Amino acid sequence: MKTIGLIGGMSWESSDSYYQIINRQVKAKLGGVHSCRSLMVSVDFQEIADLQHSGDWEKLTVMMVEAAQSLEKGGADFIVLCTNTMHKMAESIEQNTTIPFIHIADATAIEIKKHKFTKVALLGTKFTMEQDFLKKRFTEKHNIETIIPDQQSRDRIHSIIYGELVKGILNESSRKEFIEIIDTLLKKGAQGIILGCTEIGLLVTPKDTNALLFDTTIIHATQAVEFALRDLKTGN
Ligand code: GLU
Repeated sequence: MKTIGLIGGMSWESSDSYYQIINRQVKAKLGGVHSCRSLMVSVDFQEIADLQHSGDWEKLTVMMVEAAQSLEKGGADFIVLCTNTMHKMAESIEQNTTIPFIHIADATAIEIKKHKFTKVALLGTKFTMEQDFLKKRFTEKHNIETIIPDQQSRDRIHSIIYGELVKGILNESSRKEFIEIIDTLLKKGAQGIILGCTEIGLLVTPKDTNALLFDTTIIHATQAVEFALRDLKTGN
């Protein structure tokens, strides 16, 4: 089994989900009392959120590269960055490490393509919805068009993420708002909905909507487990 290197703490609420998913899946696949070999660098999210909102992406890039390098030095076989937003720095991480990096958009695109979908909606932080770093990867690398909610809805989603979800607060009224936004996006032609923020799945799950949800946390963690066990399965 390979050792997964997780860059977490953004927020720890979703890192907790990653940790549970990878360990449950390894146990389910290998049986007994197996669990996943992993290392996690977990940051102070207040520091990260402040830098994001002041636009200091350069400092954030340095921090993410250092986190990835310390995982590599610590013996991780590959890197999983447990947040969509910080994939803005994915290329810098890949350029400054020598171990594989499991990109959250590539993992998600694999699932979307299984359904032969070509147009999906992307929900996430305003950084993720409004900037190009994930949308461009979906379009250019995977031929998947992404649509996003209107300005007012984007503001609401962003404030629910940073004001509630990263603090572990799950409000029924916020869940309803998400469902309304999802319904509008379906009417605009979205064939499925990417939960492109690793905390949204804590609030919105398949039982809340008929829309097909692509929960990036579950998808990314699942692909990490597949990668960690790949050589083991083939006996290489
Ligand atoms: N976990 C979130 C994401 O997937 C938001 C927190 C962050 O900005 O990293 O984008």
